[in-house]
Amino acid sequence: MIEQSFNELASALRRREFSSVELVSQTLKRIETVDAKLHSFITINGAEALAAAELADKRIRQGDTAPLLGIPIAHKDIFCTDGIRTSCGSRMLDNFIAPYNATVVDKLNAAGAVSLGKLNMDEFAMGSSNETSFYGPTVNPWDTNRVPGGSSGGSAAAVAAGLVSATTGTDTGGSIRQPAAFCGVTGIKPTYGRVSRFGMIAFSSSLDQGGVFARSAEDAALMLQAMCGYDEKDSTSLNAPVNDMAGGVKNSIAGLRIGVVSDYFDEGLDTKIAASVHAALAELEKLGAVLVDIKLPMSKLAVPAYYVIASAEASSNLARYDGVRYGYRADNPVDLEDMYKRTREEAFGTEVKRRILTGTYVLSAGYYDAYYLKAQKVRRLIRDEFIAAFEQVDVLAGPTSPTTAFQFGAHADDPVAMYLSDIYTTAVNLAGLPAISVPAPQVDGLPVGLQLIGNFLQEDVLLRAAHQLQQATDWHQLRPPLG
Ligand code: GLN
Repeated sequence: MIEQSFNELASALRRREFSSVELVSQTLKRIETVDAKLHSFITINGAEALAAAELADKRIRQGDTAPLLGIPIAHKDIFCTDGIRTSCGSRMLDNFIAPYNATVVDKLNAAGAVSLGKLNMDEFAMGSSNETSFYGPTVNPWDTNRVPGGSSGGSAAAVAAGLVSATTGTDTGGSIRQPAAFCGVTGIKPTYGRVSRFGMIAFSSSLDQGGVFARSAEDAALMLQAMCGYDEKDSTSLNAPVNDMAGGVKNSIAGLRIGVVSDYFDEGLDTKIAASVHAALAELEKLGAVLVDIKLPMSKLAVPAYYVIASAEASSNLARYDGVRYGYRADNPVDLEDMYKRTREEAFGTEVKRRILTGTYVLSAGYYDAYYLKAQKVRRLIRDEFIAAFEQVDVLAGPTSPTTAFQFGAHADDPVAMYLSDIYTTAVNLAGLPAISVPAPQVDGLPVGLQLIGNFLQEDVLLRAAHQLQQATDWHQLRPPLG
């Protein structure tokens, strides 16, 4: 039954075809068998989930029609959950139990969604493959020799494998869109500030944004709608009305101007992926969209600017893990300095250390102007270029990733090659725009993502285009061959 859409599940629950307790119990059983192979969960909270399902059943009996009521979801393990471990994929927080919920968690609880657990991710959301998780990687449900993408790989794989209906994720430089593309699901990163960052463990505060994975744009719209809104606990939260994302998906896209970004179809792109993305764009054209060529020459500077800014902010954000306040603490330190050093040495993984070192370097006196300040200037140019493009078109389009899911270890000796898998995604975060990845035709049996980028606050336009595409095609309905 978990295969059904949100709307189907909600109406089956309302008609009492089954209860939320039954749905959740069955889902937990399936996770137990299927996830032994996938490893998309770090923590499963069965008892809490069953208690929440009971509460949801009560609300349903009282006639509550909230759209997510009683439906199983799960959270990326970067969102703090009161009383349940929040590890952020790191040894540093392996023993961390937050005393409060992230706003996203509170909002989804209030909407009646039932969280089954916490999902695997790259350590502190740094990575594109899930290989940096302290708990070992999630595997791609389409091919267990391949990565699910990252950093929200657990969130993408869990939805692709039908373990839960939808999941939360975060996207600092592509961590929702790239795993959505690799696993063949729909993933949306909203406008910066749309979804509260309160209780979402910080990697790069000016880029981080929470979002959603689901099997369809329609489900993603329902889930995102419940997560958005102003939050006084997040100083960068946007105080702007939230459009009717869930209701708006049904409207036509006739006349929608889609700018096809020629710079995203460069020589680094696998030719079969280019063909797949063009096939998806041709479908949108059939639905009445108007395709226009657009150039975004600044986008080639996005990856270097992103890795300077994201690492700089990470080096500052991760300074708090010192063994004093929470998380890991080295045994038997000889003095305070020894405790700081060994705590960080023992509990951070290699990629996190690399980012902290790079970030500290680009912020240090003497290098600040050459790297950090320069990157901020590039960031402004990228943003201005997007703003100019949105004077000509409503939506921008291209591939989500230059390749399909790669094999484990493919970039083990070359971190920069891994960073380049973010080539089409990072500019969006630097500008703060919303973007979605939706399944396009598969290549060699592996999923491909079409990326649509929207103007500020226009998540509804992206979801509408994605939903209309999904009404006309069935690429998003393909399921990996799992038990
Ligand atoms: N892969 C990118 C990185 O490693 C993006 C991560 C993210 O979006 N959280 O930084």
